[in-house]
Amino acid sequence: MADIIKLLPDHVANQIAAGEVVQRPASVVKELLENAIDAKAKCIKLIIKDGGKSLVQIVDDGIGMSATDARLSFERHATSKIQKAEDLFNLSTKGFRGEALASIAAIAHVEMQTKPEQEEMATHLKIEGSEVIHQEICVAPKGTSLSVKNLFFNIPARRNFLKSNQVELRHITDEFHRVALAHPGIAFNFYNNGSELFNLPQTNRRQRIVHIFGNRTNEKLVPVAEDTQVVKISGYINKPEFAKKSRGEQFFFVNDRFIKSPYLHHAITSAFEGLVKPDSYPGYFLYLEVDPSSIDINIHPTKTEVKFDDEHTLYAILRSTVKHSLGQFNVVPALDFEQNQNLETPYDYKNKSILQPKVTVDKEFNPFQEVSQKHVGIPVLKKQSTEGWENLYVGLDSKVGNDEGFSSMQIESDTITGSIFEGQQDPTETLATTFQLRRKYIVTTIKSGMVVIDQSRAHQRVLYEQFLRNITINEAISQQLLFPITLPFSKTEIGVLTEIKESLGTIGFVFSEVGIEEVKITGVPMMVTESEVALILDQLISDFQLETIEDSFSQTDILAKTLAKTLAVKTGEVLNNASQLALVNDLFACKESMVSPFSKPIYITISENDIDKKFI
Ligand code: ADP
Ligand code: MG
Repeated sequence: MADIIKLLPDHVANQIAAGEVVQRPASVVKELLENAIDAKAKCIKLIIKDGGKSLVQIVDDGIGMSATDARLSFERHATSKIQKAEDLFNLSTKGFRGEALASIAAIAHVEMQTKPEQEEMATHLKIEGSEVIHQEICVAPKGTSLSVKNLFFNIPARRNFLKSNQVELRHITDEFHRVALAHPGIAFNFYNNGSELFNLPQTNRRQRIVHIFGNRTNEKLVPVAEDTQVVKISGYINKPEFAKKSRGEQFFFVNDRFIKSPYLHHAITSAFEGLVKPDSYPGYFLYLEVDPSSIDINIHPTKTEVKFDDEHTLYAILRSTVKHSLGQFNVVPALDFEQNQNLETPYDYKNKSILQPKVTVDKEFNPFQEVSQKHVGIPVLKKQSTEGWENLYVGLDSKVGNDEGFSSMQIESDTITGSIFEGQQDPTETLATTFQLRRKYIVTTIKSGMVVIDQSRAHQRVLYEQFLRNITINEAISQQLLFPITLPFSKTEIGVLTEIKESLGTIGFVFSEVGIEEVKITGVPMMVTESEVALILDQLISDFQLETIEDSFSQTDILAKTLAKTLAVKTGEVLNNASQLALVNDLFACKESMVSPFSKPIYITISENDIDKKFI
């Protein structure tokens, strides 16, 4: 048989390698940022266009490359960072594989200008699909500028796989955050389609966090510090009360490299146990320094995972360090001692003398005398108590009407008919009786037996269909707010909000202003109360960050689901009879009453037969 094994040509091998190294524009951004950092840059500019699909450019003021190095840097396994296998265990650089530039050059149009400080002239190189098509000497400042255009130009399948520009931008921003947070000593600028997204001056860690996530972040941060023989831990955790619905602000760095480690993440979150709600995530920015020989970063091609020699010890140290910081923070009362105490008291009152409370005594009052109109005290008291009695019911009414959004009027008259005019009831009309079981289920009867309904899921379904209907027929009723609400958000969150702003409009959210770090809301959907707005938007942003939604249909669907989830009554809430009945009626008027919007069963039925069997 003839020999059939052949060595792949370099450009094919590079394309294959690129499949691993470059998944999307954000991977290019990561590799190039890391190269600039390895080149000891002090100032790095990131410029992208169209979510990085048409351009990713990085300009640095690092050590640059000679003409020969510039050519060599695009060869596979060409690296200045390691020379022998042992070096792998003592890495102080981000890169070491020598694969990135070769891979990128295989699948894009690449242009490089580079000049080391001591040399006079710079080198200009153009490479397309691994082939150098142009090289010349030129004038340029010290450092390297690398632009990557038309990513995946020669692999249409990969190109088509890319998401919308907005989504790709979000991935790039995530990478940018990770690198910028790890290197506060380097200045960064980030431009998207010609406008500046971030301008981060050289600073310390705390300031860098604040510059990225907004001024309001500062008050949330609690410092963490621990120095042991195994590891040095520093950084910040967010105060538990600022835990978010999304994992957005969880950053873990090992030797200035962003790392994902579910195991150590668990150490951190377990330290927060009992301090944050189960479905919210505490924010953290933790920096670990360990001996480079005690870790192996070689286990994942994109290098966000790392293997530690002694993970168990690290786990224990990390957990207790975070706990300690939380404890310290909790022990210190949550008072701001720097705050001007005078602000606590309204100015008018400050200099006034204390007023004696006035006590008026009815001198003629005699408790043994019979109640008569003469004595003012008692009739008034009586009247008050009747008022209170009535109020009890008024309050109940309005709660049903406003909070749950049920049409209480109609239902209430139903019940009254049921209870007062029992005898005259129309026998064809089934009068459902409901009761709530363990603040979780609504139990009611049907012809064949009984139904047990999960109250929360049922309400989710009702609200979900209602929202979808409103969105589709564009009939969302928005309640105008008397005083607009201004809510702070990070730039990334604002990005997500901008993306879904239109859909939010279809359900009744009106934004009068979307700023750089805050939004002004002048209208909210009918069913939403002012105090719920922040919670809902927070939840929406995190849901949208988790999913990469493309078309507008799935956008409205997610929107309706999130709103339904957030606004639905929860397990543990007491529902009065009217609300129970309304919920049952609304549920069975739904198009799909069996499963919740999240595909969970809503109710079960137990037939008379089933019950009979139990009694045998
Ligand atoms: P690695 O970073 O793993 O070494 P790369 O393919 O990313 O591999 O880069 C190859 C080499 O090119 C690097 O080792 C470095 O010597 C050089 N290089 C890449 N980018 C820069 C830059 N921005 N400034 C100076 N040298 C660079
Ligand atoms: Mg590299």
